[in-house]
Amino acid sequence: MKKGYEIIAEIEATSSKLEKEAIIRREAEAGNKEFFDGLRLALDPMITFGIKKIPTQTIENPTQGLEWKVFEHTTSLFATRHLTGNNAKASVEGMMHLAQKEEWNGWFRRILLKDLKAGFTEKTVNKAVKGVNASYEIRTFGCQLAQDGVEHPHRICGRKFIDVKLDGVRLLSIVYPDGRVDQFSRNGKEMPNFTKIRDQLSSVAHLFSEPLVLDGEIMGQNFQDLMKQARRKTNVNTDDSVLNLFDIIPLTEFEKGKSKKIQEDRSYDLAKWFEEAAFHCPNVDLVKFEEVDLDTEEGKEFYKQFNANAIAAKLEGIMVKDPQAYYEVKRSYAWLKVKPFISVSLKVVGAKLGKEDGKNANRLGAFFCEGFEDGKFIRVDVGGGYTEEQREDFWNRRDELFGMIMEVEADAITKSEDGDYYSLRFPVFKTFRGFEAGEKM
Ligand code: AMP
Repeated sequence: MKKGYEIIAEIEATSSKLEKEAIIRREAEAGNKEFFDGLRLALDPMITFGIKKIPTQTIENPTQGLEWKVFEHTTSLFATRHLTGNNAKASVEGMMHLAQKEEWNGWFRRILLKDLKAGFTEKTVNKAVKGVNASYEIRTFGCQLAQDGVEHPHRICGRKFIDVKLDGVRLLSIVYPDGRVDQFSRNGKEMPNFTKIRDQLSSVAHLFSEPLVLDGEIMGQNFQDLMKQARRKTNVNTDDSVLNLFDIIPLTEFEKGKSKKIQEDRSYDLAKWFEEAAFHCPNVDLVKFEEVDLDTEEGKEFYKQFNANAIAAKLEGIMVKDPQAYYEVKRSYAWLKVKPFISVSLKVVGAKLGKEDGKNANRLGAFFCEGFEDGKFIRVDVGGGYTEEQREDFWNRRDELFGMIMEVEADAITKSEDGDYYSLRFPVFKTFRGFEAGEKM
């Protein structure tokens, strides 16, 4: 059987996706179990080792080499956190001394880094082994995502839970009863920087009788700062971050892709757990939800008001959840996101043609618009929202349209890159507000 480091070097050497896949398939057909066990350790996002620095071997090491079984056993102790801190560090160094240079640097070290540096993912592996050996497949990470409620208005009916849509970063915490807590982004990237929250969750982990996934949105002082802190390698300060939880699901069900309990029961479980946990978790909170029946006038009115309040509070939007739905690790109608939009009146000050090679090459690409909203000077290119006929017509009549007031719909007012003025996120043309320059009706 070929060795892991030899195969990884081979995959690394080609930039062709198909060739990478073919090499992996070849190993699957050869029954190279050790190689696939290694791939799993490296690529299964839910296996983590909790070790920050993995040394590189710099000298040729004339040894027999490190036995796979020894490596596998030791990594299982890292993964379950039976070996941590200085003990883990010492055992990594011990293994490095046993390994030959190229197998350490090209295989074992990369597994511990969870980065094989060969330009392929678990998806490539799963494609390559399909139909050859299902036991070589690697678990992928997924969480429940929302469908767009604005695009599916007929689904906003009946009994629903509504809560605010927080503009932070999704964070899934896997909490084990023995106190271990692993945190991931929605794509399965490990998020190690929220240590304070992790310690708080760890202190109440014993309240669970089985490993559970707590699903929520983490908020910092503001979105930019939060992103910075989440990505940082050093000087991390996430002490004021707050984790806002909105769901709970046993790890076994999460791994299978579907919960056994419906939203209503999960929300109840979460609230019940939090009654006991809250005191020990000052940086954790629950997202509050309201129950409404959208088939009644009263419910509709409440929904309208809730929406209006969310806009007034400059929130990203609201979430409409089906109390009867199971949690599924995919984009689901169980959660509908409803993003409110803002409407701004701006003056048309210029126009440009569409892209030379695009379908609007000979007609309007965008109008340049400017104006004040809320005391903020906004300058934005409005390129969307026109019909093809309007693009023709507006371009031909552009001189007479300059100075007209346009109603523009957008997600939000944003600061421009150089910070001198404001702009709009996802601006869309709605209508002209008058019949002549400067007129707003
Ligand atoms: P989007 O990213 O626009 O597809 O919207 C879905 C995202 O909204 C989720 O992945 C969460 O990160 C986020 N979110 C914010 N607040 C909530 C909430 N109350 N319930 C569910 N998801 C939420």
